[in-house]
Amino acid sequence: MNNVEPIPHDTAGDSECDHVLKHLYEYLDSEMTPEDEQRMRAHVAHCSPCLSELSVEDLVKQLVRRSCTERAPETLRVRIHQQLTVMSVVR
Ligand SMILES: [Zn+2]
Repeated sequence: MNNVEPIPHDTAGDSECDHVLKHLYEYLDSEMTPEDEQRMRAHVAHCSPCLSELSVEDLVKQLVRRSCTERAPETLRVRIHQQLTVMSVVR
């Protein structure tokens, strides 16, 4: 088992979860620096709240792209969120 080393970041007071949320869309749009992307992956690998946040946004993005609408309605986002939450609770 490898321990995941926290990757240092020069922004003081920037928690790993904040980092993920802050760069969520950059990640989804593949606009991250390789360093940031690596740090994000390392974090979501052991932080399920962030992983589900990432999955929700990823799903919403795919659905939006498929339906050709400008942006996802908030209700869709909430619904996917609820489903994922239920899934992770039941398991
Ligand atoms: Zn997190």
